[in-house]
Amino acid sequence: MENPDLLTQYITRLNPQGIAPVQVRRLLKDLGIELEKRVIDGSRRDRNAFVQRSGSKAGYKIVLLREDATPSPLTSRERFVLAHELAHVLLEMSQRPRPTSKGDYWQIERLCDDFAGRLLIPESIVLETEIKDPSSALAGLRMISDKCKVSIRTAAHRLAASRPSLAFLEARPKQKDADDFVMRITWIKNSDGYLDIPTGKELNGRDVLGSLLLETWRSDLQVGQSKQLEASGLGKCVIRRKPISLLASFMEH
Ligand SMILES: [Zn+2]
Repeated sequence: MENPDLLTQYITRLNPQGIAPVQVRRLLKDLGIELEKRVIDGSRRDRNAFVQRSGSKAGYKIVLLREDATPSPLTSRERFVLAHELAHVLLEMSQRPRPTSKGDYWQIERLCDDFAGRLLIPESIVLETEIKDPSSALAGLRMISDKCKVSIRTAAHRLAASRPSLAFLEARPKQKDADDFVMRITWIKNSDGYLDIPTGKELNGRDVLGSLLLETWRSDLQVGQSKQLEASGLGKCVIRRKPISLLASFMEH
């Protein structure tokens, strides 16, 4: 229903040289879109931002909801949220029909997420990221996240979409009983689906991936350290311990 080419054209127009990090606030200003930061109590916040008609040059403003009134730089999350809302404004400006079904709504949400990832992480940076093994894949994630000021998750989405043999996931341990733990998949990014696991799935020790994650979690790995592993059916992987989670990179054989 939507034409993704419109947003692709905007990405090229808005950042022709593929410069990173993209100055999101500056971009909105240049487009004549007003940005309002509104402080809201966290418990009342059911969304991060929204678009409103306004008297600005473009005729729209983006309202960014924050919990903190003190001026602080935009976080990676907020940069992504603003880029996502910018896609909504661009679609509105081109007078695309509004979604009429739930399916249309989610399709537009995916388009806007995709736009945000591609705007904030220029194609040239994805192409120059050298990935030979799961270890360099994790290093690539860190590099993209730092250079483009995006979250590891956004970087993982973008990199996995560009390399079919690559998968990234984040998992957190969850206690079921006294000494019974499962690993809950917080997110998984994999374009060709060789690690076909839904987000939120809880894996136990009887599952190949679950036992791999649980063993790594229980090992003497320090925060920030990684471990190289090879598991049958899962290919090679590197798992890094984060303060409360594990970040893993997989490559198909
Ligand atoms: Zn949206």
